[in-house]
Amino acid sequence: MTDLDPIRWMREFASLVDENADRLTELDAAIGDADHGSNMRRGTAAVVAAFDEAAPTDPAAALKQAGMVLIRSVGGASGPLYGTFFLRAAAACGENALGTADFAKVFRAGLDGVVARGKAEAGDKTMFDALAPAADALDEGLTAGADLGDALDAAVAAAEAGCAATIPMQARKGRASYLGERSVGHQDPGATSAVLLVRAARGAVR
Ligand code: ADP
Ligand code: MG
Repeated sequence: MTDLDPIRWMREFASLVDENADRLTELDAAIGDADHGSNMRRGTAAVVAAFDEAAPTDPAAALKQAGMVLIRSVGGASGPLYGTFFLRAAAACGENALGTADFAKVFRAGLDGVVARGKAEAGDKTMFDALAPAADALDEGLTAGADLGDALDAAVAAAEAGCAATIPMQARKGRASYLGERSVGHQDPGATSAVLLVRAARGAVR
């Protein structure tokens, strides 16, 4: 029986964001305001600091705390969006560790939160375009009876493909949408950090 530890998920996310912060900022420099890497690094580091200060007692508490800290510490669109992802994920999360069925449900709830907050649809060139295919892959894995690690391998591949697919898109949401046609030909920074979120989940399976 494999499951996923949300605290490890957040720690892994923070470390991947830290490693990739320059890349995220470069992508945001092309179609935004060059702060996505620093926004995400500040937010995820604050989550890790909060966990270090007082370890959350259960998965739902960890995800809730992550969401609140991200909303509080990240200026910019991505803070409230990722923050809402984790708050909604927390609300869908029980007291126990997350198996495949639970994680698919929790991740889907997070995605629904992003949509409720930002109203993005497929093809708008946002984090949605990486998160939604990952949620679908998790659901498929669940239906097929896959183990959580395998379902997450598929989710990582789906998120990567969804992220790459943002390159030819014209942005319809967020700062990049102000560029109109000039947003075409660049990978979306938020879709890129969303791949890290899914990759981090894969790394948190035990
Ligand atoms: P800001 O745009 O305020 O500078 P960031 O640079 O941190 O914030 O984040 C930009 C990313 O946020 C974009 O690349 C995009 O993926 C995501 N984003 C922006 N608006 C939305 C939205 N309405 N729904 C979903 N994602 C969005
Ligand atoms: Mg920005």
